[in-house]
Amino acid sequence: MKVVVIGAGVGGLTTAALLAQAGLEVSVLEHHTYPGGSAGTFWHRGFRFDAGATLLAGFDEEGVFTRLERRLGVRFPVRKLTPGEPLMEVWLPDGRVVMRPVGRAFELEAQREAFGKSVQGFWAWQERRALALWKLAQGLPFPPADVQELRQLVRKGLPWALENLADLGGLLADLLRPTLTHAPADPIFRRFLDAQLLIASQTDARGTYALFGAAALDLPHRSPALPEGGMGAIAETLAEAVQIHGGRLLYRHRVERLRVRNGRVEAVEVALGGRRRGEREVLEADVFIANLTPGDLAALIPDGPQPPPPADGWGAFMLHAVVPEGLIPPGAPYRQWAGEGDWTFVSLADAGGPLRGPAGWRVLSASVHTRLAEWRGLSKEGYQAHKQAWQERVLRQVERLIPGIRESALLVLGGTPRTYHFYTRRQDGWVGGYPQRHPFRTPSPRTPFPNLWRVGETIFPGQSVPAVAMGGERVAALVLARLGLANPSEPQSPAPLSSTQP
Ligand SMILES: Cc1cc2nc3c(=O)[nH]c(=O)nc-3n(C[C@H](O)[C@H](O)[C@H](O)COP(=O)(O)OP(=O)(O)OC[C@H]3O[C@@H](n4cnc5c(N)ncnc54)[C@H](O)[C@@H]3O)c2cc1C
Repeated sequence: MKVVVIGAGVGGLTTAALLAQAGLEVSVLEHHTYPGGSAGTFWHRGFRFDAGATLLAGFDEEGVFTRLERRLGVRFPVRKLTPGEPLMEVWLPDGRVVMRPVGRAFELEAQREAFGKSVQGFWAWQERRALALWKLAQGLPFPPADVQELRQLVRKGLPWALENLADLGGLLADLLRPTLTHAPADPIFRRFLDAQLLIASQTDARGTYALFGAAALDLPHRSPALPEGGMGAIAETLAEAVQIHGGRLLYRHRVERLRVRNGRVEAVEVALGGRRRGEREVLEADVFIANLTPGDLAALIPDGPQPPPPADGWGAFMLHAVVPEGLIPPGAPYRQWAGEGDWTFVSLADAGGPLRGPAGWRVLSASVHTRLAEWRGLSKEGYQAHKQAWQERVLRQVERLIPGIRESALLVLGGTPRTYHFYTRRQDGWVGGYPQRHPFRTPSPRTPFPNLWRVGETIFPGQSVPAVAMGGERVAALVLARLGLANPSEPQSPAPLSSTQP
């Protein structure tokens, strides 16, 4: 049984590795020269920079990466942060800095110190909701893609609802009301929440529905870890797992078109790059997985309409820099500016890490949300000027956190939505998935074709490296069930897993 996976992002690679491990003949086609997409790590002038994602979680006992290590027989090269260790510091408009340490008790202490007792109730609510949600969320097939998933949803959801009966009204209300409902009136605390939620749910505390907000704020307590040598280490390990289990990875292979016949996809047309530029190939398969946004997938289907990114979808402006090690003030590996101007997220992972470049230098990245519309329709000169203005704007923000960066940086590189479009092929450079305003925002992996599935941050459970890995697990299970094959991760059941064959 042949499977073609389009795209070697973390979502595509997770699905590919699990299907290869289940015995399917898997080929991953990636247009770029290395894996990871928005969570890749690239070389430039002897240093390794993260293309997008920098902050990683999901290494607790029930975490997705622990599960994948067990299932795939690989080890992700990470250093897990321990309770009490600072994960992130958030710089507030009034000059205070709030630390976000690993571990709830440490966090509560830091919050009380920064905002006083008025935030205790908020954090008690957050903990209650997050703990309830994590019990349900792992492997939740939502919205169900088929009858099999609907059954799973009921099997998982019913006992959970009974267990949480006393609080069910509140839980359901939190599916609809915004996170802000639970926050005390303190405007600085609200600013802290807005800044934190924007990076996790792509909208602020007024926009993020409360249940998602509670889970997103739990990040420091979901076993965060520093990937050695950059975030790309996760995708590289998954790529290795694909190969260990007999699959293959084909870089510089850009899928340009799907061949469709009788309502099924039967092949992909591929444009080759590098030394084989100009050549084309056609690859046939039984199952196809697209690690693509809905619009990017639609563009591969002949005559199909191409939905644009959502109006509230974001792009990212990324600033990569190399600075002398001694320039970085001591503190957490991740720092967020939540004061005036743009909220800026600075990542300083890998202190003294030899895997990032020569000793004595530190690689850092800073990301800021930017509206996609700003970058559309610019002339070549207009684009360069806009990029330059943004680079200056972000550098000014980073200087607040790292004084002297402008004068002492060895190099500074800017990345715009156009850069993301160029390297990851994402439509308009849209990143971050759907802003989490309500629970029905992120669709299921289904497509109009029974043998084509989507994976990645635009299917449930949405964006972030652990979330797309969970989405990858979900899609692998769906494919195996459709084929009537047992999912090796699950106890072998005597009956076939699926009655819904295509
Ligand atoms: C600036 C930024 C910061 C972020 N920070 C964090 C963070 O700190 N922590 C976190 O957990 N998450 C973070 N994220 C989100 C995280 O990176 C993404 O949610 C996740 O990596 C998306 O994975 P994906 O599986 O959807 O695939 P993508 O990353 O979109 O990868 C898709 C792959 O498909 C390839 N491809 C596309 N079209 C084709 C084609 N036609 N043919 C062949 N190949 C193709 C692309 O080259 C790419 O490699 C961040 C994202 C950005 C942009």
